Amino acid sequence: MTDSDCIFCKIVAGDIPCAKVFESETVLAFLDIAPVNAGHALVLPKDHHPTLMDLPTGLGADLLAALKAVGGAVMEATGADGLNLMQNNHEAAGQLVHHAHFHLVPRFADDGLRL
Ligand code: 5GP
Ligand code: ZN
Repeated sequence: MTDSDCIFCKIVAGDIPCAKVFESETVLAFLDIAPVNAGHALVLPKDHHPTLMDLPTGLGADLLAALKAVGGAVMEATGADGLNLMQNNHEAAGQLVHHAHFHLVPRFADDGLRL
């Protein structure tokens, strides 16, 4: 399932480059192009599903495995003290790319970020 107008589908297809940090049969993760903190990564199913509510339940284990692996990797790589997991659905909630994805944001004790 892909959407020819979707930037994340183009990244999954390899038509747009990304800084890949994780890949499995069903999931891809790469660094956000506009990070809110060092190591900000995006985790997404390779198939196109617009929002969380559209995700097949069967992808849950693959997504959780990826979130755990990528979360640990970005924390270790950046020396972070903490980690936020965020997920936006629909424009009213700040979703800019309509291919469901999860943000992993490493946090530092004194980073001053308000998410
Ligand atoms: P949303 O607001 O939809 O939850 O988040 C979309 C995220 O995708 C934003 O943080 C934005 O910086 C990131 N993004 C948008 N286009 C690209 C791109 O072409 N490459 C990468 N690596 N990230 C992107
Ligand atoms: Zn897509």
